Formats: sequence, C-alpha cells, structure tokens
Amino acid sequence: DSFDAMGLQENLLRGIYAYGFEKPSAIQQRGIVPFIRGLDVIQQAQSGTGKTATFCSGILQQLDYSLVECQALVLAPTRELAQQIEKVMRALGDYLGVKVHTCVGGTLVREDKRILESGVHVVVGTPGRVFDMLRRQYLRPDSIRMFVLDEADEMLSKGFKDQIYDIFQLLPPKIQVGLFSATMPPEALEITRKFMNKPVKILV
Ligand code: AMP
Repeated sequence: DSFDAMGLQENLLRGIYAYGFEKPSAIQQRGIVPFIRGLDVIQQAQSGTGKTATFCSGILQQLDYSLVECQALVLAPTRELAQQIEKVMRALGDYLGVKVHTCVGGTLVREDKRILESGVHVVVGTPGRVFDMLRRQYLRPDSIRMFVLDEADEMLSKGFKDQIYDIFQLLPPKIQVGLFSATMPPEALEITRKFMNKPVKILV
C-alpha cells in the first residue's frame, strides 16, 4: 500500500511526495491502478476521501507530454471545485510539465480561446463553459482520450444533464470515462449505462 508500488512514473511520484502525500488513501489504493490501465472506473466516494488525486494521478500518468493537445477533460459542478482540481493537477504534475486550463463561467471567453489555442494537455471546467468551448471549436475534441465527471450527482442535481450528454456526443466514441459520485441516483446510473464500457466499480 504505497504510491511506489503502483507503477507510476518517477516524475509523477516526485509530484505526489512533494505535495505532501506519503501513503495512498483507501480510494487511491483501489482506484489509481485500474485508471492508469485505461479502464472505465466508477467510484462512489464522498469528498474528503482523496478522489481528486486519484483521477489527477490517473490522467497525469497517461498523458503524452510530447503532444500539446487536450487529452483529458474533467467536469465539475462548480467553479470553485474546478479551480481546486486545477490546483491539484498542476501540483502533482509539476515535474511532468503538465499544462492545464480551467474553463468556467464568469471569465472572459477570449482568454479561454487564447489559452486553449496556445495548447494544453488537460482541461478542467464546468459543463456550461466546456460545452461552449467545444461548440465554438476553441476546444478540439479529437485528441481527448480521458473524460472524468467529478461529483456527478451534484452536476446532475444542478441541471447539467443535457450539457453532459451534449459533451459526450462531441467527444470521440472510444474514450476512457471515470465517474466519481457520492451517491448514485438513477440519472448517474443512466450515464454509466449509456457511456461507459465494462466499468470497474469501487465503493469507499
Ligand atoms: P479530496 O477527497 O480529493 O477532496 O481530498 C480531501 C483532502 O485529503 C485534501 O485536502 C487532500 O489534499 C487530502 N489528501 C488526499 N489524498 C491524500 C493522501 N494520500 N495523503 C494525505 N492527504 C491526502
């Protein structure tokens, strides 16, 4: 039960330890390895369990850093959570040179456009602004291989269902999906049935 035993890249481990994590939490112990193997993962976990570092590590391990194209998209229900995820992604990916951008409402669209066009590896955001970026083609979906929905139940209860479905339609069909949710309401289960492929289920 150590980060060392997970087969993570040296520079990712450095980021994890530099951030102050010594040992993986329960969800990290069970969730990181299937994620880095490219499997679809459903994790029923509350916040406070270490879910953010689970999917951030999973994404950071799998990025191709020689391509400055968006390869991973993370959706969150609020601006604050999206910004928090960006912070963790940047910190854990510090030694990998990861480029992350957050797309949320209340910021200038032309700033998003400029940064997305300059090239990033990962986009984090709220469903409305992310869909807008895809629709305007400022964010190109072709190279996206990983898609994480964080606090899926919260996103659904905020009325983001249609935007989440619209985003799935614009993404490449064979994409790795990670779904994190404290509860599993019918609408969340529907997403897992419609868009996930033989997901590994982890309950913490
Ligand atoms: P989260 O559930 O992702 O919101 O994380 C909850 C809190 O736990 C955050 O403050 C993290 O920094 C912290 N945390 C996550 N994983 C670990 C770990 N392996 N060791 C120590 N703290 C952690």
